[in-house]
Amino acid sequence: MTLKYTAVSEFPQIIEKLENTFSKNLTKPINYRKKQLERLYNLLDENEQEICDALYKDLHKHKTESLLGEINVIKQDCLDAIEHLDEWASPEYVKVGVAFKLNRCHIRKDPVGLVLIIGAWNYPVYLVLLPLVGAIAAGCTAIIKPSELAMYTATIIDALLPKYLDQEAYKCINGGVTEVTELLKYKFDHIFYTGSGAVGKKIMLAASNYLTPVTLELGGKSPAILDDNINFSVTAKRLIWAKSFNSGQTCIAPDYILCTKKTQEALLKEIPKVLRDQFGNDIQKSPDYARIINHRHFDRLVKLLEQTKGNIVIGGKTDRNDLFIEPTFVENVLKDDKLMEDEIFGPIFPIVIVENIKEAVKFINEKDFPLSLYPFSNDNDTIKFILDNTRSGGVTVNDCLIHATVPTLPFGGIGASGTGSYHGRKSFEIFTHERSVLKSPFFSEKLLERRYAPYNELNYKILNWLMFSKPNFTNKRNKGKWKINNILGVLCIIIVAYFVKKKFIK
Ligand code: NAD
Repeated sequence: MTLKYTAVSEFPQIIEKLENTFSKNLTKPINYRKKQLERLYNLLDENEQEICDALYKDLHKHKTESLLGEINVIKQDCLDAIEHLDEWASPEYVKVGVAFKLNRCHIRKDPVGLVLIIGAWNYPVYLVLLPLVGAIAAGCTAIIKPSELAMYTATIIDALLPKYLDQEAYKCINGGVTEVTELLKYKFDHIFYTGSGAVGKKIMLAASNYLTPVTLELGGKSPAILDDNINFSVTAKRLIWAKSFNSGQTCIAPDYILCTKKTQEALLKEIPKVLRDQFGNDIQKSPDYARIINHRHFDRLVKLLEQTKGNIVIGGKTDRNDLFIEPTFVENVLKDDKLMEDEIFGPIFPIVIVENIKEAVKFINEKDFPLSLYPFSNDNDTIKFILDNTRSGGVTVNDCLIHATVPTLPFGGIGASGTGSYHGRKSFEIFTHERSVLKSPFFSEKLLERRYAPYNELNYKILNWLMFSKPNFTNKRNKGKWKINNILGVLCIIIVAYFVKKKFIK
């Protein structure tokens, strides 16, 4: 099977068509957006089995993982957007200071225009269609570019999209580096990219040509910090689930463990039983365990296992023909080990020994800010200490991954793990321009003409009273001044209102 790439020569017409659709305001009516979201929901609902089959062919992903980790999350976001769109998209009337009382001020929620969404291979449906929910909800037109590495999934998305969504507004483009590089030569109104930091830099550089805003959903080494006082049996189950979900090829998978030697021993005692309970005696035969995406990534992971100076204590079995790597625990990994250089993005779990939580925090802070952080502790002060003294995209305490499944929690990185966040309302906001509008009535001229030259002290003082707040956080004397200023402000308004009434209302 080969993925059919979109011809680069078609790009100009595709982009022109989507820009025209946007210019004609066709994607802006709320009912249109809701209808498209409904169709996107139906696309996922009516083709669930075909999509799961494609994900199985690409990643050996079990149907449960495909539904829970991809399809159902997007469906939920569609429903959420349909339910709340009226509220999200309605103009926001804002409070204004005394001087602006005669004006009407509001924030319009305008779609930014034509957006480009580029996805990665590990959650190949989710990473293009979830941002698309936000783009549709916001009223944008969009091009999605699924990862060419998950080719079965990219093929089915390309086939299904035009059957359900308005072809004048949404288009799937397939291709690899050449096609993305070519696409980036065009002007978009927002670029939403998910993938590695190295490519993220290229995307940001290309976007800078047009000063196009970007959202970068990147990765990094997300640590699990284990306190000594935890429930080891539950912790082992949760860590193994999170590290073996999609065979560790999850951007927020726990990358490595930081704990004391005592905790390492207690944890490792629990692991074999948990692995047996979840995947049986021969993990390779388990229908629930995914495979590595391709031979390049398989070889990269096997090389890491060959190069590590830590001890492989559990797992270690690999099979290149089957792209299988067993969940593998490596104990006593030193800070400068190969496993600790880059994001592992596979089912290898190094354990780094630290003396205490303070040292764990120091270790994390010597690296780039992770996408996620997983403190496990029974002590609230310890959890607070970890959160107060680290930075990360998100956090789940005493578990892994699940903060990313809550649509009301913004999902995104910080620093090297990404910029911008999405899910739920945040996805709508990414593709929305908050456009400030002030409508000034002509009758307010009597008041506003004081701003014109020639300037004088009295006019300045009146405008200053009317426009700017005074502090109310200082001593009683200032509080008194604040009251006087307010009274003077109100008096000014009454005088202006009097003149306006006299002049215009007979
Ligand atoms: P990938 O190889 O699928 O690349 C991602 C996209 O970038 C693809 O669509 C690809 O065509 C394009 N691309 C690749 N090289 C390019 C280049 N040189 N120029 C232009 N475009 C290019 O995926 P990947 O980069 O291997 O993704 C894995 C990374 O993504 C990991 O670091 C992972 O943590 C991160 N990730 C992050 C999230 C998140 O939500 N933050 C989700 C999934 C994956």
